[in-house]
Amino acid sequence: MEQRIALVTGASRGIGRVCAQQLAAAGHKVVLAARQVEKLEEVAQEIRAAGGEATVLALDLANTASIEPALKQVLSEVGTVDVLVNNAGITRDMLAMRLKLEDWEEVLRVNLTSTFLVTQVLMQPMIRKRWGRIVNISSVVAQMGNAGQANYVASKAGLIGLTKTLALELASRNVTVNAVAPGFIETDMTAVLNDQIKEKLLALIPAKRFGSAADVAAAVSFLASDAASYITGQTISVNGGMAMV
Ligand code: NAP
Repeated sequence: MEQRIALVTGASRGIGRVCAQQLAAAGHKVVLAARQVEKLEEVAQEIRAAGGEATVLALDLANTASIEPALKQVLSEVGTVDVLVNNAGITRDMLAMRLKLEDWEEVLRVNLTSTFLVTQVLMQPMIRKRWGRIVNISSVVAQMGNAGQANYVASKAGLIGLTKTLALELASRNVTVNAVAPGFIETDMTAVLNDQIKEKLLALIPAKRFGSAADVAAAVSFLASDAASYITGQTISVNGGMAMV
């Protein structure tokens, strides 16, 4: 079988990095995208040292005009993308009453608008090949709401609606589109939470632990595989039982 190519955004650290490692271990050639090229190179080296194949793409998803040319360049170099993991995401937390428009817009741009733009380019080779997998990383807070995160929650809930709509549009082309909704996962994003908040959160998690990036990547790898060919438009929760929706 021809080697599949997977592109992971936000692959320089956290969940995206482990998704890329797992997809590489499963035999994909991976394209690692994010802003910090040096960190991406480190991840690529790790993947190569483990026997996998990886290339690096400098991409700032806040710069929406740069997305299409950057991805068309990738397509001209690697030929196609079979698996797309829209993982990159940011937070700019503040209670809604004081949330600045620029912080609302930046989070929506990076988390939601850029996911649409990346997908719009990379769905094209999938449609032509009649095979593709798109996985969008949402969040448990899209299902529950979260005080202080109106922008982030709106972006992550938007991803679930986008996932369902793209699933409807692409199902007949054998391209599946699903979301993964992680609970609280130990990465840089949650390292900023203080101990008091972490204790409150732990009390809400029946599994009594935070998740790992590997917990999330396992769901992503499954959705990217042939075994998941009849699953589309779904949101898979990886949250230790924190929300059951
Ligand atoms: P993280 O450790 O903060 O990593 C975020 C990744 O996104 C980095 O690789 C970062 O790379 C990239 N990124 C940020 N801004 C970018 C931009 N403008 N352009 C391109 N790449 C950008 O976060 P994480 O915890 O792994 O989260 C990964 C995804 O899971 C996010 O969508 C997050 O919302 C979601 N999630 C996380 C949790 C959690 O508890 N951690 C829970 C639910 C959902 P550079 O800095 O190199 O650009």
